[in-house]
Amino acid sequence: MSLALAALGLPFAALAHRRSVRYGLSTQTWAPWLSDAARSAAVGASLSAAGGALGMAALRRFPRRWWLPGAGGVVGLGALFAFAAPLVLDPIFNRFTPLPEGELRRDVLALAERAGVDVGEVFRVDASRRTTGANAYVWGLGRSKRVVLYDTLIDGFPADEVRSVVAHELSHVRHRDVRRGLAWLAIFAPGGTYLVEALAERIAREGAHDRGGRPLPGMLPALTLAVGLVSFAGQVVGNLLSRAVERRADAFALALTGDAEAFVALERRLVTRNIAEPEPPRLLHALLGTHPTALERIGIGVAFAAARGGAEPACATRAGDRTRPGTPGGS
Ligand SMILES: [Zn+2]
Repeated sequence: MSLALAALGLPFAALAHRRSVRYGLSTQTWAPWLSDAARSAAVGASLSAAGGALGMAALRRFPRRWWLPGAGGVVGLGALFAFAAPLVLDPIFNRFTPLPEGELRRDVLALAERAGVDVGEVFRVDASRRTTGANAYVWGLGRSKRVVLYDTLIDGFPADEVRSVVAHELSHVRHRDVRRGLAWLAIFAPGGTYLVEALAERIAREGAHDRGGRPLPGMLPALTLAVGLVSFAGQVVGNLLSRAVERRADAFALALTGDAEAFVALERRLVTRNIAEPEPPRLLHALLGTHPTALERIGIGVAFAAARGGAEPACATRAGDRTRPGTPGGS
């Protein structure tokens, strides 16, 4: 099922890839792109197979209320994933090198010290093998905890803007947002798996149970559909929480660096570099947006500067060295 679904999505992914190559966002030719698709299909199929086997075992063992042990399983697997993915899965797709000694590393460590956080390790990832877009993230649990910076960010952005990104990521470390995410998962998991059970039992065809009423593997398609529907709904709620967490990280970054001008300039550069939508359609953003819109983030920067009584971080004043043609004008 997992491979069939991957094959179904492939033509659409290919169209999207051709488009991003045309617009200069993707740096990949077809061969490495296909190799990526094959690798992620293999990883997806392995995880789905393991998940399917585990799920069936739980269903057979607890034929009635399997949602309860199911909820525990979801949280346990989530924690295992957050711990192991950076060590096992991510290296299948990218190379991660610890940030070398130098100005940036010293900058990161100084910021972390001021923020009072143990930053774990800081990695540079070779994102440029696929994209010209820039990003950074915090991931991992316990010993796999890390901050990851795209090489496109390190090499293509001014130092003050990179510092602004690092300060934002430090908020995620400081507030333990990966663990907090798992805690949210633990809160929502029982309701979610309860819904999955109710939905799957309703969708399942006759013959999905043996005479004793215990689910058979014929239950798996219904289960997969139910998981898909419920996790989409869960994702929408998760995105709402994520946007709040990201707003806090932006506020934290501004307080830590005190540099609203770099913050605003960074948001502008990210939008243009990643060919992102500064103000996406409202419904789409409400459903799928994981971060505040770029326009809102610029507003956060402007509000911070205003609250400090400083000059507005008018992008226009730095037009000479900052603007790129065609960017939306000012704040
Ligand atoms: Zn963030």
